[in-house]
Amino acid sequence: MEDEMILDKLVCPVCGQHRFEEKGGYEICPVCGWEDDPLQRREPDLAGGANKLSLNEARKEWFEEVYREEDEE
Ligand SMILES: [Zn+2]
Repeated sequence: MEDEMILDKLVCPVCGQHRFEEKGGYEICPVCGWEDDPLQRREPDLAGGANKLSLNEARKEWFEEVYREEDEE
């Protein structure tokens, strides 16, 4: 149970498709390009950290992109 929680925190908060090596290690997600900023994880509406967009904005844009791609197929 505890392991699952730790793994959860390592998963990219934007796309959920990449697991970072360490939590908040400023690693860049190869799937969506999100940089793992611990401050933005705590403050999902904070823009202008390691990423230009806030976490919530980046997540929104990511999902819009995914849906757009699905529509094109
Ligand atoms: Zn990602």
